[in-house]
Amino acid sequence: MISKDASFDVVIVGAGSAGLNAALVLGRARRSTLLLDSGPPRNAPAQASHGLLTRDGTPPLELTRLAREQLAPYPVTRLARLAEGVVPAQEGFAVTLEGGNTVHARRLLLATGVTDLLPDIPGLQEGWGTTVHHCPYCHGWEVRDQDLADLIPGGGDMAYHRGVLLRQWTPHLVLLTHGPAHLTAQQQSNLDDLGVRIDERLVAQWDGRNVTFEDGTRLGRDTLFVTPGQAQRSALPEQLGCARIDRGPLAGVLLAVTPETGLTSVPGVYAAGDMIGEQQVVLAAASGARAAAAINADLCFGDASRWTIHT
Ligand SMILES: Cc1cc2nc3c(=O)[nH]c(=O)nc-3n(C[C@H](O)[C@H](O)[C@H](O)COP(=O)(O)OP(=O)(O)OC[C@H]3O[C@@H](n4cnc5c(N)ncnc54)[C@H](O)[C@@H]3O)c2cc1C
Repeated sequence: MISKDASFDVVIVGAGSAGLNAALVLGRARRSTLLLDSGPPRNAPAQASHGLLTRDGTPPLELTRLAREQLAPYPVTRLARLAEGVVPAQEGFAVTLEGGNTVHARRLLLATGVTDLLPDIPGLQEGWGTTVHHCPYCHGWEVRDQDLADLIPGGGDMAYHRGVLLRQWTPHLVLLTHGPAHLTAQQQSNLDDLGVRIDERLVAQWDGRNVTFEDGTRLGRDTLFVTPGQAQRSALPEQLGCARIDRGPLAGVLLAVTPETGLTSVPGVYAAGDMIGEQQVVLAAASGARAAAAINADLCFGDASRWTIHT
């Protein structure tokens, strides 16, 4: 528990890979840190997390457990609570927690992640993370050489990009464009050469083994890939007025940050992880570590200049 109106050097909102790694670095820099954790990380639906050195294949919640456990020696308080609101306050920020308490932070790190927006087709949500995947780097190896389909409604350049990429993992690939494929003659020819089939039928359902089309026909597949759209998971960046970058319908709206530090357009507010476009556990964690070091330096040098003025 924390006391009402408690004050911290840093409040981190979000305890996925980005927030947890930031908490580790800030704790080790002796910064009093509050880590607000409102729920599971984005990859929680997956059985295993891949592509992280020394932990390849570890279940996502086990990674979270290990990361939390390793915070124990440090001055980090983890609180399973949603941050509902934030406003600038004297020399920092006032963060309102679910339930009404307010805490004070000299610096704020947003690590609230993104939400995946799946096409509205029955079966996709149910299979998400098990029979429906989005990232071949995360889950491609496990389904290599199998019968795969990739659903890219609207086709076009994204369908071409995904077709060429996923072909690296299997020669048995069908692109489902859910309507006209909108490929150039050159793109179509390159995909033909790679043996990637295009299917323009409208998709009605995925049952974990078969795609059923609106005309009632079926296509058996071991796994379905899909590229969801994304949206910011939290409204806090908007409340603070952080500048954003619109990366189009798929990548969605990301927070604009200084790449070397993770500093947003609002002084004192930093951001890390998927919400700035990282998209992998190792990258989200790295951006959390980078922002944490920048925040510590910001506090150190801010305090040093203040002491200089007063002496
Ligand atoms: C199905 C699936 C499988 C994946 N598999 C892999 C994989 O194998 N390998 C890999 O490298 N990547 C994988 N990824 C990507 C990976 O999950 C993300 O890159 C990573 O989780 C990003 O970490 P993050 O900390 O930025 O955000 P998140 O993991 O989304 O964590 C954000 C956290 O912030 C919390 N939060 C949000 N708002 C608030 C608030 N207002 N107050 C308090 N807390 C808040 C959320 O509850 C959440 O816990 C996968 C993604 C998905 C969807």
